[in-house]
Order: sequence, then C-alpha cells, then structure tokens
Amino acid sequence: MKILVTGGAGYIGSHTVAELLKAGHEVVVFDNLLYGHKESISCPLVVGDLLNKEEINQVFEKEKFEGVIHFANYALVGESMKNPGKYFESNLQGGINLLDAMKAHVVNKIVFSSSCAQYGFPEKLPVREDESKKPVSVYGETKLLFERILAWYDKLFGIKNICMRYFNAAGASLDGSIGEDHTPETHLIPLVMQTALGQKEKQIIFGDDYQTPDGTNIRDYIHVLDLASAHLRSLDYLINENKSDNFNVGTGTGYSVKQIVETIKKISGVDFLVEIGPRRPGDPDAVWADNSKIKKILSWEPRYSSLHHQRN
Ligand code: UDP
Repeated sequence: MKILVTGGAGYIGSHTVAELLKAGHEVVVFDNLLYGHKESISCPLVVGDLLNKEEINQVFEKEKFEGVIHFANYALVGESMKNPGKYFESNLQGGINLLDAMKAHVVNKIVFSSSCAQYGFPEKLPVREDESKKPVSVYGETKLLFERILAWYDKLFGIKNICMRYFNAAGASLDGSIGEDHTPETHLIPLVMQTALGQKEKQIIFGDDYQTPDGTNIRDYIHVLDLASAHLRSLDYLINENKSDNFNVGTGTGYSVKQIVETIKKISGVDFLVEIGPRRPGDPDAVWADNSKIKKILSWEPRYSSLHHQRN
C-alpha cells in the first residue's frame, strides 16, 4: 500500500516508517524537520508544514495514497502550557488542513497518534478507553479535540480514523540505528541514561510523596517498536473493516520513576547521583493502560516493552 506519514521523521514516526517499509508498504514522509531527523528515514521525504495548505495539497496531487498516518504534532506538555496558541494552531489547524486535503483527493483512511494525556487524572486504574476525558494540559486537550474533529470528518465525509492513545513511548530500534533524539530532552528514560553516561551530574526525581507504593509517579512505558507494530495493525484494520475506532496503546503494567532509575543503574552498572526534587505541575500519581481492547480487536501484543526484556 502507498502510505503518507506526516511527522514520519520524528521519534515514533521514524520507527513506524521502518516497520512499514519492512512490511512492503510504499511510504512518503511529510515533515517540517523542526524536530524530525532526515537521517532517520530511508524513503522519499517532502519537507513541508501542515499549516501551509498548498504544501500538503501538492503531496496529494502528485501521488495517490491509500491511507495516512498522522504523527505531525507538537508534543511537549510543558511548552503547551506556556504557548497554548502554538499548540492549538498547529495540532488542530494543521490537522484540519490535512483532512481537507485528504477529502479533496478522496483519501479516506487515517491513523492518528493520540495520547493518554486526554484522560488527565484518571478516576480508575488501569485506564480504559471510556475513562472520562479531562485533560490537564493544552497538549492533551489538542489530542482530545482532534479526535472530535476526526469523528466529524467521518460522519460528514466518510473519512475513517483510528486514534491510537499512546502511553509513555520509550526505547529504540534493536540495531541502535535510530532512537529517541529530542532537543531539548524532557523524558525520563533518556534523561536517566544521559546521567548514567556521565552527561548530566545527577538525576532529579520530580516528587516522592505521591499516593503510590514508593511515593514516585507510576507510568506505562511502551516500547516504540510495539507502538510501530500497533500502527501497522490499525492500518490493516482500517483497510479490511473500514471502521473508525480508538485504542489505548500501553503495556498494561506500570513502573514507578524509582523503578526506572534503579533498573538503569543495574543495567549500566553506574551508581549515579539521584535527588528528590519538587513535584512537576500536572503530573497524575499513576497512569497505566487497560489494553484489552487493542489486544482483542487488533490481535496486538507488546513484545519489547518489559522493563526486564532480554534480547535473545
Ligand atoms: N520525571 C522525573 N524526572 C525527570 C523527568 C521526568 O522524575 O527528570 C518523571 C515525571 O514526573 C513523570 C515520569 O518521570 O512522573 C515520566 O515523565 P516523562 O516526561 O518522561 O513523560 P510524561 O508521563 O510526562 O508523558
């Protein structure tokens, strides 16, 4: 199949592109390269921005796609609270421009990288897809709003969507050729690795007085290769079933910040300095996924996501 991948040069995008190519799909990436890396992909790349209607329309004029995977979004929670306009404009208007271009060129299947951030502080654990949606960040709000926009494009124009609500993406390709490469880096696992490598003097844990067994936040860390395989499954589902749906994409197991730090100490053999700092605003105590829906409907299983995964 010929697939357009927006944001395909980014972290999750580039791993998904690699898996799509491996599975024999033809892929074109559309990316503004603000955060993406062109070295991370080995398929045609169109450098452009979704806020530029002409740029995105031209891509559809040149080639006929069977489906779109839409990753291109700003994704920093902290920045979204300082600069909400940038997030609403890019994540929503950019996405609308994409949908309008799809409609104009009769492309009617889209997989959207959504987020568990739309659940905010979940009332029940593990978090199910029908949990109440009360985002506590502008970033999470944009994901929720775009899911609503997608529902209208389905109802009005028959553009079918699958919304993949990721939990915490982590990990890299098994040969180490691509991985997480953000500037600035804000995510726990790469930051702790940088500390183990001696690139940072110490690792700060953002609060240890949460309502969890060891007092630190619990999250569901899902390996980027497992996320990539979930995208391939959802694409097949869209093609075969032609039905919209949404799925949690998590492992179903939560680990605390302390468990992550201890595991990286053990694996690296480096006993780096760890300090307890203040809480980071907007962090829920614990979030992990009920992934029974995606397991059942897409027959998907995480393969690489255990904290203690051993390569064989
Ligand atoms: N965290 C931390 N120290 C850091 C970075 C993150 O203690 O230097 C914690 C953060 O408070 C959260 C967890 O690690 O509980 C995961 O944070 P991350 O930013 O990686 O992902 P998020 O859950 O915010 O999407």
